[in-house]
Amino acid sequence: MSNSPEWVIAALEERKKQALFRQTVVMEGAQVPSVQINHKDYLAFCSNDYLGLANHPKMVKAMYDSALTYGVGSGASHLVNGHNREHQNLEEELADWLGYDRVMLFSTGYMANLGVIAAFAGKENGIVQDKLNHASLIDGAQLAGAKMRRYLHSDLNSARKILTSFTQGQEKSTILATDGIFSMDGDRAPLAGLAQMCQQNNALLMVDDAHGLACCGESGKGSMALEGLTASDVPLLVGTFGKAFGTAGAFVACSHDFADYLTQFSRPYIYTTAMSPAIVGATRASLAIIRSEEGLMLRHKLAANIAFFRQAVSQLPIELGESETAIQPIMLGDSELALRVSDTLKQTGIWCTAIRPPTVPKGSARLRITLSAQHDFEQISHLVNSLSSAIVTRN
Ligand code: PMP
Repeated sequence: MSNSPEWVIAALEERKKQALFRQTVVMEGAQVPSVQINHKDYLAFCSNDYLGLANHPKMVKAMYDSALTYGVGSGASHLVNGHNREHQNLEEELADWLGYDRVMLFSTGYMANLGVIAAFAGKENGIVQDKLNHASLIDGAQLAGAKMRRYLHSDLNSARKILTSFTQGQEKSTILATDGIFSMDGDRAPLAGLAQMCQQNNALLMVDDAHGLACCGESGKGSMALEGLTASDVPLLVGTFGKAFGTAGAFVACSHDFADYLTQFSRPYIYTTAMSPAIVGATRASLAIIRSEEGLMLRHKLAANIAFFRQAVSQLPIELGESETAIQPIMLGDSELALRVSDTLKQTGIWCTAIRPPTVPKGSARLRITLSAQHDFEQISHLVNSLSSAIVTRN
């Protein structure tokens, strides 16, 4: 069947010419470090399953048990009759853990970000964002038709300048949104400085801690905990379940009034089917692990793996960024080079997908290496040896 319009074919050809063409790959089996793709075995170093919970037996069982009681489908949106006891329990457990009045579940992190921004940021009050914020925060503002400006990455002066110009003479608070841990760089936002700036300017700080929650901080409470911040500093906190929680879906933590407000005005909350109760059951089991001794041990193991990796790479002429988190990017710049290095790694049994624009800014293609508590030192040594031959020997 080949009657596609010419402009579609041309757009695809253009992407290929720019080394930006993307394709899905089929992974056989579960999300674990040893994976099989195209009938070959690889060690994966690009998953967001930072604690290795995606295939945890307790969660698999919890999902099954939950499906036996509540079924697989929620059957309706939260406000019709899709919000059952399982959803309510998870919301209350998360609110209790994080110290917020309320938590509301969303189907994905993308939807949660769109849902908050569309309800809180408009044409007048607008939204101010870090330049390197995740695509869902940027798209959220664009889809919501909100006035938006982006400040230089983690630069408090740049943020202040833009924020004060937005809030002047404005009755409705402006939103200032940032990733807690930046998804493609692994570095941490200057949250304490941003929180203070928002308080001084009648702005609301929104933190998307998709990559911080469950793995950062001794108790896993994420990047806010690392800076000693609480719900009064960060009135809107977004978390996702598809990363360290090992399931899928997302949540917003906020005050009672903000939750009531979102319930009235957040269209991506109102007009979509509630998360599968079976996945909610698995996520409750995940939260229980994250809060337990086992969760603490997994965070310690992850931290040891990060330290081991950074120490090993420091012996090579390869520059790593500032990141202390599971996300350890190696900048390559050119997209074609990133693809080539990723392919060379495959030949040594390492799977690490090249990250290219528009996911990252032009000229900053990279290997986004991610570590998990499930990797062991031997596997990480193999990765570092492979990096050495793919990047250093090539020079
Ligand atoms: N926020 C950040 C910072 C992310 O990295 C991602 C996903 N990569 C999302 C939100 C979207 O979350 P989800 O995958 O649940 O849609």
